[in-house]
Amino acid sequence: MSAYVFAAPMIPSVPVESSEARFPVHRIYCVGRNFAEHAREMGAPVERGTPVFFMKPADAVLPGGGEQPYPSATADLHHEVELVVAVGRDARGTIPREQAGDYLFGHALGLDLTRRDLQSAAKAKGLPWDIAKGFDRSAPISAIVPASQGMPASDALLWLEVNGTRRQAAALSDMIFSVADILHELSLRFELRAGDLIFMGTPAGVGALLPGDRWTAGIDGFTTLSGCITATPHPV
Ligand code: MN
Repeated sequence: MSAYVFAAPMIPSVPVESSEARFPVHRIYCVGRNFAEHAREMGAPVERGTPVFFMKPADAVLPGGGEQPYPSATADLHHEVELVVAVGRDARGTIPREQAGDYLFGHALGLDLTRRDLQSAAKAKGLPWDIAKGFDRSAPISAIVPASQGMPASDALLWLEVNGTRRQAAALSDMIFSVADILHELSLRFELRAGDLIFMGTPAGVGALLPGDRWTAGIDGFTTLSGCITATPHPV
């Protein structure tokens, strides 16, 4: 048995609804521009084409939402509410769309928090999005509901409110690429593993979160998540 040169970091994990066991996070994949209205508001072309993928580090998860310090290095933190898919089985090669359900562990609700100012600057220069998307605690996430316990309705409303005002809302059926499409497309590019999370993209209405703001998000008939942004920046 080999030893590590220092204590290995904890494996990031997310609670599982109605269970003591937790879901260990392997990777976090994210889909960009998966709702036409949001692609339009970001000035991006609306076309089916090829899905946009990016990643966050596994330890960006913030299970249960809750208090979150305003992140460093931004003056324009944005909320993006998203359906999250949890993968429960290793894929060997390509996942056919019609078998995508076999790889599903369950679903959750999450926020793809974004340093919009840094993302806009990166886009303008053709640079990577990592510092805009992959920062610490950039992925608040609800408990994962195993598919055996329930699934969001295919046309369920995905929404987010800030200080009681609704900012984002769209039916899950408005997604350009379905969960089966995305599992298939990702499996062409990466080896999908049990423990992977996939943030499925956000509806129109993204906007700023400020210190003191309280947000609540939901998928009607499925789950909710809430949190608040605190004034004190986290030390870097
Ligand atoms: Mn997003």
